[in-house]
Amino acid sequence: MLQGLSVSPGIAVGRAVIIRFGRLPAFRRAVAPEEFEREERRLRRAAARAADELARHSREAVGDMGSELAAILEAHSLIATDETYLGAILERIRRERVNAEWALAEVTRELGARLAAADSAAMREREADITDVAREIAAHLSGREHPGPADLPRGSILVADELSPVEAARLDPRRVRALALERGGPTSHASIIARSFGLPAVVGIPDLCEAVSPEGPIIVDGDRGLVDIQPSRQRLRKSLVRVREDRERSRRLRGRAARAAVTTDGVAIAVRANLELPEETSALERFSAEGVGLFRSEFLYLRALPSSPGIEEQREAYETLLKAAAPHPVVVRTYDLGGEKGIGPAPGENPALGLRGIRYCLAHPELFEQQLTALCLAARAGELKILLPMVTSPSELKTARALLEKVAARAGLKQPPALGVMIEVPSAALLADRFVRDADFFSIGTNDLAQYGLAVDRANRDVSALYRPLHPAILRLIAMVVAAGKAAGRPVAVCGELAGDHAGAAALIGLGITDLSVTPVAIPDLKDRISTLDAGRARELAQKALEASEASEVERIFGGMA
Ligand code: PEP
Ligand code: MG
Repeated sequence: MLQGLSVSPGIAVGRAVIIRFGRLPAFRRAVAPEEFEREERRLRRAAARAADELARHSREAVGDMGSELAAILEAHSLIATDETYLGAILERIRRERVNAEWALAEVTRELGARLAAADSAAMREREADITDVAREIAAHLSGREHPGPADLPRGSILVADELSPVEAARLDPRRVRALALERGGPTSHASIIARSFGLPAVVGIPDLCEAVSPEGPIIVDGDRGLVDIQPSRQRLRKSLVRVREDRERSRRLRGRAARAAVTTDGVAIAVRANLELPEETSALERFSAEGVGLFRSEFLYLRALPSSPGIEEQREAYETLLKAAAPHPVVVRTYDLGGEKGIGPAPGENPALGLRGIRYCLAHPELFEQQLTALCLAARAGELKILLPMVTSPSELKTARALLEKVAARAGLKQPPALGVMIEVPSAALLADRFVRDADFFSIGTNDLAQYGLAVDRANRDVSALYRPLHPAILRLIAMVVAAGKAAGRPVAVCGELAGDHAGAAALIGLGITDLSVTPVAIPDLKDRISTLDAGRARELAQKALEASEASEVERIFGGMA
């Protein structure tokens, strides 16, 4: 039984499919002793082919690209047939009873880690060499197709080192029952997608990929953050009963969720859905969402990689959303690319503080214009609102607005769609009273507001204990935005994960927020919670919380209410 961090509730029983995505992707398969020789032959053949190819490239390189590259490739070709290296991989196959791909990746990773920690710079550089060579060998090993996130066998539980937003967007929720990952945090995008799909998920278990038996039954308990890697029959039986009970409970809650959410003292709260992909629209009706409070459009882009979605494809996606949500609004966030939704920051750069969100779009005006065009073309299908991510200064909003006005006129719209700003960087919260001039509405992204406000990487396990969105400093920032919105008559919503948390929702309502957007599966429970909440009392507590010094105090104040 391994303890991790629970990031998506529920329990699931299934067969483990182990994939490492990192720099050297590999799929783990159990190998019986009678298969050892075959795996050995496969490895040797792949290594010999890789070495031949590298040597050939090296000879060709001398002509056009100079001798330096030739020397590197020659060295790579030698590594590929190095007996100590191959011997270590073969030993791993036998000792761990695993397939050649997995053994190759594991030995290379360990060797790479040792080289990376070496004192001499020359040794450290060898780390990249060895990984490159392993990639070449792996390419020649790929005789047996292994599943990717899109085509996992039905009923599987994906066990992986980590899941990038791109891989997460490719998951097929009809095939996967749960996720268990070595890395990640509650607001990393794999966790957000897991919640969106209603998949139980546990993250932050080091060496998980090594500990789990391939294809063996495992249990992921997303309520308690536990992964049972060798479940007894009795535990399997008990878990299956819980799976059934959970299903019944959510059916009951869903039945009640059709009613609007109103607090005991009569304050109506709009509860909307955060969506990532247009295929998720069925969730709007199933969970009785009042429209879409956040559509993370960048997943359309990430899913289409290496090509990019054209105007027509995007327009269709936005129309699908608008029609499904009608008569409620749909808030489409323009591409929040960059950041951890890595489209390749250079090594050593900090992607979270780099060319992310609106910065990326303004630096790629054609891409941005295409998206705004698709949005304007779809706008007539319903009530569309456009939201800009990662804004830090009003000038970014002004530039975007000018472009939107041009594009809207070209699309024949009398008036451009409403344009709002995500408040997820402290500078935007502090300047909210300046943003009101050009922003039609605000939506507070508490995931990033906490990351940037507290200087805590939202996906880094080492500092996950410091990631406390209910920190009084964050509440003060939110209060400033609410005040600025109120003074200028601009609506303020919250679309970060905090809105779906019992204590978090109480705090937000206490601060005067009446528009919450959360992952669809969380809606029934949130509505249930709101219907027992006294908004007046929440307001009193919020005043106390704003005077607190520590997150723990605020958590205690609203935890008592939950
Ligand atoms: C946020 O930052 O709170 C948010 C909703 O956006 P994302 O989680 O996609 O960064
Ligand atoms: Mg964000």
